[in-house]
Amino acid sequence: MATASTASPVRIQTDLFINGEFVKAENGATAPTYNPHDNSVIAEVASASTADVDRAVRAATEAFPKWSALSAADRGRMLLKLADLIESRAEEIATLESLDTGHPMRDTMRLDVPRTAMTFRYFGGMADKFEGTVIPVDQGFLNYTLRQPVGVVGQIVPWNFPLMFTSWKMGPALAAGNTVVLKPAALTPLSSLRIAELMQEVGIPKGVVNIIPGAGSAVGQHMAEHQDIAKISFTGSTDVGRRIVKASASNLKRLGLELGGKGANIVFADAHLPAAVNGSAFAIFHNQGQACIAGSRLILHESIADAFLDQFVALAKSIRIGNPLDIATEMGPLTSMGHRDKVLGYCDIAKEQGGQILTGGRAPQNRPELTGGYYVEPTVVEAKPGDRVSCEEVFGPFVVVSRFKTDEEALQIANSVEYGLGGGLWTTNLAKAHRFAAAIRSGMVWINCYKRVNPASPFGGVGSSGYGREMGFEAMHQYTEVKSVWVNVDANIPPFYPR
Ligand code: NAD
Repeated sequence: MATASTASPVRIQTDLFINGEFVKAENGATAPTYNPHDNSVIAEVASASTADVDRAVRAATEAFPKWSALSAADRGRMLLKLADLIESRAEEIATLESLDTGHPMRDTMRLDVPRTAMTFRYFGGMADKFEGTVIPVDQGFLNYTLRQPVGVVGQIVPWNFPLMFTSWKMGPALAAGNTVVLKPAALTPLSSLRIAELMQEVGIPKGVVNIIPGAGSAVGQHMAEHQDIAKISFTGSTDVGRRIVKASASNLKRLGLELGGKGANIVFADAHLPAAVNGSAFAIFHNQGQACIAGSRLILHESIADAFLDQFVALAKSIRIGNPLDIATEMGPLTSMGHRDKVLGYCDIAKEQGGQILTGGRAPQNRPELTGGYYVEPTVVEAKPGDRVSCEEVFGPFVVVSRFKTDEEALQIANSVEYGLGGGLWTTNLAKAHRFAAAIRSGMVWINCYKRVNPASPFGGVGSSGYGREMGFEAMHQYTEVKSVWVNVDANIPPFYPR
């Protein structure tokens, strides 16, 4: 346990959480987690090995029979208490998340923390309302379905929204009666370990949740291969998603894959321009663009493109960049130095292919207080639809602009990438809005808004963005097996072998 000196005091848990206790890694290994604002080490955090995966899976396996047999209402009550506890510690948890990830406090306070509590509360409430069905079959038979937990679930998450992902992943899994081994990204382990402490406080029994930060190639890979893990729910890059599919084959474990994205954001000629400009800026620059659903491709009708870009570039230039712990900050640093370098590398790639940088493409200028951090200015690039920056996920404050003449061309550009996660469109024409909502190849579409999420609404993608859905009833389906039960109530079954 360590403390950090920040605006609001935070508790920093640095040990693995296995079988209800905070423990060191079996081999004693640790890894630093950095403050993206100034590259200082926040803490040395225990770094799990494959032996720790085995310990965690054993604990989750032992905890499963009791947890799954507990009444759904009792499981739900613990998640409801957890939601309340998170809200009561909102400022401390928001500070911790901002410190570890670089998200501005104004966002962690008004989005990440409330949404985390809301999601645990939604699934806490869902636990005892999730029902099987009775199916009308042949006369005299009762056929009903049971929804049963799949068992030990492995959950592997990335570094972009580590706090929120604890609730997206664990909320439905626990409500449905599964036990969990969760691996946060090595870059951002702190908020999930803090949630583990709160889970202890609300009385979630030992072994039901295990949290083991560690390297993806060792810990994540071992989880994906593990014979005693029944399902992997993975959020991360498409490349690692493919590796997990291969690794899961040995015991045919279930998979949910939430992978990369390259969101199309189409602005039609009849759009309400001020709303489209503001919403499109949120779509890409919120969380420094480190969002799988970011609106990272702006597709503008040629008749409004210049007017739109004048306002959009002016807004991008006005975004207040700074220390995430300062409540006035609108954009913080990227989460890691390596990632900052990758994003800046894409500016060179854009230029090499003839792209034009309209603003940004560099670290903030004349801001000596930010030079130690991983900052990148909001970046707007105009490029051809086939260019690398128009097709590959940059995952930063980097939006690529293209122009279209006809609706057919807009749809062709929108659907021209391998990803299909989120997409948006701005128009005042209702018929066009619905036509495009149906035609865009993606798991989610936003009309005259962007990046809305809610625990009740299914979330997930198609194509290289993965498969399976989180949130809502869909998530409960994905964390349960359906069993069909046949009962001969009053059926007269003629003998199959009449003698
Ligand atoms: P990543 O794929 O590198 O890592 C994600 C997680 O997988 C980390 O915990 C990592 O340690 C682990 N991992 C790495 N190698 C592994 C292996 N061989 N086996 C098992 N686990 C392994 O992704 P990232 O860079 O941390 O996150 C950014 C990516 O996540 C982007 O592509 C983004 O689009 C995607 N993402 C998707 C969603 C979604 O809901 N679709 C949400 C957020 C982020």
